[in-house]
Amino acid sequence: YQGKRGTADIVLYDRDQVAHPAHWLMVQTELRHALERDELVLHYQPKVRLADDGISGLEALVRWQHPSRGLLSPAEFLPAAEQSGLIEPLTAWVLRRALDDQAGWTALGQQWPVAVNVSARNLEAPGFPRVVAALVAEHGTPSGRLLLEVTETALAGDAATAADAVVELTALGIGVSVDDFGIGFTSLSQLRSVPVAEVKIDRSFVTDLDTDAPNQAIVRSVIALAHGLGLRVTAEGVETPAVSAWLAEAGCDDAQGYLFARPTAWPHLLDLYLNPRGSGRHARAELDAVP
Ligand code: C2E
Ligand code: MG
Ligand code: MG
Ligand code: MG
Repeated sequence: YQGKRGTADIVLYDRDQVAHPAHWLMVQTELRHALERDELVLHYQPKVRLADDGISGLEALVRWQHPSRGLLSPAEFLPAAEQSGLIEPLTAWVLRRALDDQAGWTALGQQWPVAVNVSARNLEAPGFPRVVAALVAEHGTPSGRLLLEVTETALAGDAATAADAVVELTALGIGVSVDDFGIGFTSLSQLRSVPVAEVKIDRSFVTDLDTDAPNQAIVRSVIALAHGLGLRVTAEGVETPAVSAWLAEAGCDDAQGYLFARPTAWPHLLDLYLNPRGSGRHARAELDAVP
């Protein structure tokens, strides 16, 4: 799975895939049915403004409610989707569902932008910006209310096509975020040449940020660089108050992580954030219990 290569779960998946091609084909066949039968679900994880703890948006994260294997995480089926071309209908499904869900919280008075993850393969498909434009038009999505998260690797892949897509999407009022920022090596030149709105600092730099001096140096320079280019900065994988405090002090704009909330089905978020008790930190323990 591009952009995540090197993380433990992906290494395992790759090994699995090589050892059991039949299993892998089965995943593809089942996934095709899953799309037809509406077995995919979206969970949402809030992005929190470090300055005031307000919610600055929700990120959609896909799961597969498999009839026999339970709730599967993206690492278990996205590689098969990307290899087989199913990633195109899958991404279209995710976009449509995310915009439908957004219409739900907008009707309740919450203007939260929604962020959808897209694969390198989506970005490189020539018709992709038109597909997004059609969905946005159909939903009447205002400018700035939909963000697409793409990995640094996706921007570096077929750089010209990806950059063109980002330009087209930006012109449609759709912001592009660079996800997992910092683990690729092309970051600086890509940021200069592609009109992205946000960088999301990869979790690997964030986890022990309150104590790890090299990571502190890296994150401080990413924040300075991004702000110098007029981009917002989000830190992923914030799990402790110490890391959150460090990031706030360093001038990071937004944070996401288990400290604030785990990804969860949006009606649960609705309960937690629209009732008077609701706040990310407050709700953490309850969210942990949600499947
Ligand atoms: P990502 O976009 O970088 O999303 C962040 C991942 O980190 C999510 O895993 C999230 O559940 C997890 N996470 C969030 N906060 C914390 C934390 O504090 N600690 C830890 N340890 N983990 C945290 P998830 O949902 O398994 O997604 C994995 C990746 O799959 C995503 O990484 C994204 O690249 C991809 N993905 C997810 N949904 C979609 C989708 O709809 N389409 C595409 N193309 N890719 C998706
Ligand atoms: Mg993401
Ligand atoms: Mg990320
Ligand atoms: Mg990440």
